[in-house]
Amino acid sequence: MDLSVISPVYNEEESVVLLHQAVTDALSPLDLEWELVLVNDGSTDGSQKQLDLLAEKDPTHVRVVEFRRNFGQTTAISAGIDYSQGKIIVLIDADLQNDPADIPMMLAKLDEGYDVVSGWRVNRQDTFITRTLPSHIANGLISRVTGVHLHDYGCTLKAYRREVITGFRLYGEMHRFIPVYAKEVGADIVEVPVHHHPRRFGKAKYGLERTLKVVLDLFTVKFFNSFSSKPIYLFGGLGLALILAAFIVLLFLIGLRIFAGEHMIRSPLLILCVMLVIMGFQSILQGLIAELLMRTYHESQHKLTYTVRKTINIEEKEKAD
Ligand code: UDP
Ligand code: MG
Repeated sequence: MDLSVISPVYNEEESVVLLHQAVTDALSPLDLEWELVLVNDGSTDGSQKQLDLLAEKDPTHVRVVEFRRNFGQTTAISAGIDYSQGKIIVLIDADLQNDPADIPMMLAKLDEGYDVVSGWRVNRQDTFITRTLPSHIANGLISRVTGVHLHDYGCTLKAYRREVITGFRLYGEMHRFIPVYAKEVGADIVEVPVHHHPRRFGKAKYGLERTLKVVLDLFTVKFFNSFSSKPIYLFGGLGLALILAAFIVLLFLIGLRIFAGEHMIRSPLLILCVMLVIMGFQSILQGLIAELLMRTYHESQHKLTYTVRKTINIEEKEKAD
């Protein structure tokens, strides 16, 4: 299998058939073996019915994974990756805001040697105040913090070589950080302008709160990426610095006692000194706890983050671990 196009579906009954059509139109001229993996993220409308029909109509290309409940877009994407076969993975929204017609151009970029081709919604068609503006701010922040410089992390439409995106679990709002993880393993990333359309059917599922979640996830990503092996270096270093500061204050107090004859015991600096030592040890302990959590985190990587009701056109054994 050359290519897997993966799309999370949550209450998109009017869109999925059009999505399948548009993906087919875009890919059939290419000489590629491809599949469209549609993950129904607990839709409460007629989406599953549409997916059943599609899978029956086009069994060569359409694969369906049905979740037992809504687990969120990122989890749906991660299940899509688990159940897909392609050497190349393209993620795309089901609501046709991303345009499947852009996929061939992105594949051409991969052929040039890039490992990740990230879509950039130059003319983003979402509400400005609650979505576009906050995400501009978040994008600037992510770019600074992660050192992976993209204009539009939130654009779902991205193409990846499978090997640069396997080996980590996605959760929260983290699908937008996939390029950051990919960079960690040495991927070459390029950003290309893509089309973006207003939603034609159904409702957008997010508002301003989403950008706040993205910012909080950014802390986790930064933490896990740069301190993941050794959080004790961060907290422990801070702790040692605090204890050193306490020592310097103590020397200063002793100096005052010897040369100016001041009473150490009456000085507020002595309290500062004691506080610094306590804070220092606390910070070191925090580092140890973080270290412990980190190990638990790594061990729990294999735990299932979603439950599947049924799959169509997927052999159970095909599922990647
Ligand atoms: N989606 C999902 N689970 C959810 C919310 C959304 O699978 O809990 C899917 C949705 O069906 C769509 C994509 O994620 O294919 C993006 O959602 P939406 O269009 O609401 O987000 P926006 O385009 O506004 O960022
Ligand atoms: Mg959308």
